[in-house]
Amino acid sequence: MYAAREEIYPREASGRYARLRWLFVWLTQLAFYCTPWLQWNDRQALLFDLGARKFYIFGLVLWPQDFIYLAALLIICAYLLFLATAVAGRVWCGFACPQTVYTEIFLWIERRIEGKRSARMALDRQPPSVSKFAKKSAKHLAWGAVALWTGFTFVGYFTPIKHLAQEVLTLSFGPWEWYWVVFYSFATYGNAGWMREQVCKYMCPYARFQSSMFDRDTLIITYAGERGEPRMPLSKKAAGNGGDCIDCSMCVQVCPTGIDIRNGLQYECIGCAACVDACNGVMDKIGLPRGLIRYSTERAMDMHLTPTEIRRRTLRPRVRIYAAILALIVAAVGTALYLRVPLKLDVIRDRGAMGREVEDGMIENVYRLQIMNTSERAQTYRIKVSGIDTLTQVTPELVRLDATETKAHPIRLRTAHGAAHPGSNKIAVELTSVDDPSLHVKEDAVFIVPR
Ligand code: SF4
Ligand code: SF4
Repeated sequence: MYAAREEIYPREASGRYARLRWLFVWLTQLAFYCTPWLQWNDRQALLFDLGARKFYIFGLVLWPQDFIYLAALLIICAYLLFLATAVAGRVWCGFACPQTVYTEIFLWIERRIEGKRSARMALDRQPPSVSKFAKKSAKHLAWGAVALWTGFTFVGYFTPIKHLAQEVLTLSFGPWEWYWVVFYSFATYGNAGWMREQVCKYMCPYARFQSSMFDRDTLIITYAGERGEPRMPLSKKAAGNGGDCIDCSMCVQVCPTGIDIRNGLQYECIGCAACVDACNGVMDKIGLPRGLIRYSTERAMDMHLTPTEIRRRTLRPRVRIYAAILALIVAAVGTALYLRVPLKLDVIRDRGAMGREVEDGMIENVYRLQIMNTSERAQTYRIKVSGIDTLTQVTPELVRLDATETKAHPIRLRTAHGAAHPGSNKIAVELTSVDDPSLHVKEDAVFIVPR
């Protein structure tokens, strides 16, 4: 019913794909740890201020009304993932997923403190001792430090990180900040230090449905059985007729999920290509061509396609459709963002006061303008009304808002009796920035004339 987890001690792989994975570790972590410290217009460049319900993304300030852009961003990320998976299988899992990246960092620390694979296995078999306790403590302290730094940085995307740093120095962290720093740190420590491959095997939903994006032309990690079998140790191979696999088990030892890729593609394979590096190293040593384990496709393995033929099949209909949808969404979002006016206006008629007759036989309606200056500069706006010939404003025509301010601004409009018909009359309210006339919005409203 239940198989206890067997500890996996992945051997360190070296080679082209290991270097590529470390490049991703550096790029993603530099971006993650440094971005919250970047400044823009005297504020944090990237800040998701949930309390104020404003998202600052460099020069862009998004409000709850702009949720569509965030939804579009998520759709773009999803399609990028679909596209990458259709072309190169679990390339995201193997190189850029946070679980892979943090496991790589935690494994690096483990190797520096506890030693190579055999030393780590021996250490775990040892009875308790002072040196074992010292090594384990040092490892967990180092893991804890990385995890805490990660948790602190994560919270720094939601609370200004400089303010957060001051709170750390003065030990005045708020309860929610404590909660989220500890929660995210604990998740990092637990997932990358303890759970590791179990997250990919049992918890990650993406691993479950991504096979639906695979087809026979998707790149996967494959073992060329025809070439490798019958596998046999090098000593016996000298006698003659074995395949190229010398059964050294290096490909299994480097595997972070502990599988043997020679048994065929398995759902546990995260496509990290550590086994490719390991086997290529072995092939170099024994003077055989590289590529016994390599990136290939199901069709290429069956039909013995050349690398050029594999590349030619990359641009198949499924990939073209994903790419076309992605390009369309990116173009639509880019255009919408380019044309976006950082000013929003809602015209709300005062329902408590219907159209009423005032002095000189004029008809008056009262409105509340809900104005949002979503730009990062203070603005003065001119209010203009139209739709009825004699329509005038009793209240001032100018209204001033600070940067990123929202204001409820009341206005009173009047028209001469007889200029509009009894009942509802369509009018328009326009706002134009005095400093920058390109900031302009127009909203429809109704003017009520009592019957
Ligand atoms: S690393 Fe290569 S040679 Fe060694 S067992 Fe794996 S497939 Fe065979
Ligand atoms: S089988 Fe190879 S590519 Fe798959 S997870 Fe193991 S080492 Fe990585």
